[in-house]
Amino acid sequence: MGLFSRLFKKEEVEENLGQAPPDLLPQRNDICWCGSGLKYKKCHLEQDRVFLEKRRQKALNARKASCGPVYG
Ligand SMILES: [Zn+2]
Repeated sequence: MGLFSRLFKKEEVEENLGQAPPDLLPQRNDICWCGSGLKYKKCHLEQDRVFLEKRRQKALNARKASCGPVYG
């Protein structure tokens, strides 16, 4: 896990994530939540996918690190 954790250091991830998407994401053909006026699929869809994936990985890593029982 050494290389992986070096690539995805928490601080770097936070910086690279940029603006957090809202809890309720638009549909692909709806206007993006960021106010650009573009359709979501043409704007933040991919960025949000990356953001959520990174956040998920971070949560998984945090759980692993805690070594306690996992609920939920
Ligand atoms: Zn956008």
